[in-house]
Amino acid sequence: MSGKDRDLAGRGRGDRILREEIHDPYMARSKPKEPTVCPGCGAVFHKGRWQWAAEPAGQAHELMCPACERIRDDMPAGILTLSGGFLAKHRDEILKLIHNKVEEEKAEHPMKRLMSAEDGKEGELIVKFTDLHLPRGAGEAVERAYDGELEIQYTKESNLVRVYWNRDE
Ligand SMILES: [Zn+2]
Repeated sequence: MSGKDRDLAGRGRGDRILREEIHDPYMARSKPKEPTVCPGCGAVFHKGRWQWAAEPAGQAHELMCPACERIRDDMPAGILTLSGGFLAKHRDEILKLIHNKVEEEKAEHPMKRLMSAEDGKEGELIVKFTDLHLPRGAGEAVERAYDGELEIQYTKESNLVRVYWNRDE
């Protein structure tokens, strides 16, 4: 892969970028009145953030939440690409680990979702997320469980976080 046009970030620097410089245009353009309910997933915008909550009594506004918009547009905030010989042998258990990690996060944060998991041309597993932090969280969960190499990249121009995990044997 070519790193020419990417903002290559090591682990420590990646952390800083994720904290300080990341910008989510989907989140920024959604400033709904309160309370607002997403007709797609039922999340409620309340106290300045989207949460899982009972639908408010009385008149609530309706607006598609950023996660549902990203899924509709097929515009991931982050992509985790897994590769290597180890993956071929343990694909299902690794994918299950990622699903579990996402479910755990999603229970607290409605905007953190897995969009899709597809096989790449060279046997990679490409997992797309609605949230900027999930690819790293999921990648680190895989690294904790199976070792391997983790690399985090953030391209400012596209507001997209890309995380790569590889283990050969
Ligand atoms: Zn929604």
